[in-house]
Amino acid sequence: MEVLSTKENILILIKEIKAQNKSVGFVPTMGALHNGHLSLVRKALNENDEVIVSIFVNPTQFNKKEDLEKYPRDLECDINLLKTLSNNNIIIYTPSINDIYGANIKALKFDFDGLENEMEGKFRPGHFDGVGTVVKRLFEIVKPDSAYFGEKDFQQLQIIKKLVEKFQLSVKVIGCEIYREENGLALSSRNQHLKSEQKKAAPTIFKILKEAKEKFRKQSAKKITDWVIKEFAKQKLLKLEYFIIADVKTLKENKIKSSKKSYRAFIAVYADTVRLIDNIALN
Ligand code: AMP
Repeated sequence: MEVLSTKENILILIKEIKAQNKSVGFVPTMGALHNGHLSLVRKALNENDEVIVSIFVNPTQFNKKEDLEKYPRDLECDINLLKTLSNNNIIIYTPSINDIYGANIKALKFDFDGLENEMEGKFRPGHFDGVGTVVKRLFEIVKPDSAYFGEKDFQQLQIIKKLVEKFQLSVKVIGCEIYREENGLALSSRNQHLKSEQKKAAPTIFKILKEAKEKFRKQSAKKITDWVIKEFAKQKLLKLEYFIIADVKTLKENKIKSSKKSYRAFIAVYADTVRLIDNIALN
């Protein structure tokens, strides 16, 4: 398996792949890989000749310095996990800061038609400028035919689709289902920071999302939101940051239900300092 750490080397390899008319699937990650990431890579392998997985902990998308510092990093382990999927058709790209930012580690400013101001955008100021900057740069280097993003970060997925539309990039953005533990907890690199009691409590998040989905058939978004707030008030180890039922296109909070629109419920919860997000399709 090739592990390339410079832009120069990845550019040479991509040129070779393109010269052979092979398709390139791309899975951008921040490493600390788990089965959720692997599900994206598996899909990319099924749909492309070659798959490039980038591993880069992007400093500009962290709005808290300590979050960036404590982000788990284990390249050896990531490589071994990817090897379990394929030894021949995966290329790992671990860009340097210089590959992405040059001398100036600063995010660009984006207008994603307001998608960036909802939910995560409200609670993590500047986050999506950081995400937009790194993904745009990676797309310019890798020039993939298709890029795979998890619905786990549904707002991010919609923003990347908007980025591609606004900059007319020739890449197909493919959303991938959320991969969960058997108990329903969505896999996340942050789960490894959970203490054992918190780990036991965390599946409640998905349990509540599923009940919210059930209720959505008959009840208003307001009523469901009030119920969710009450349920979390009973939780000792989980603190609700937000619960929102939103239109999947605008990501704006839903006030009046329309049968023509698609909705999702989005949630962010703290287990002490560990921040967990999740979402579910409602209709
Ligand atoms: P990250 O390394 O956290 O930036 O994630 C890299 C990609 O993996 C993003 O597109 C995420 O949405 C996706 N991802 C992370 N966790 C999951 C999961 N549990 N299920 C599906 N996709 C995921």
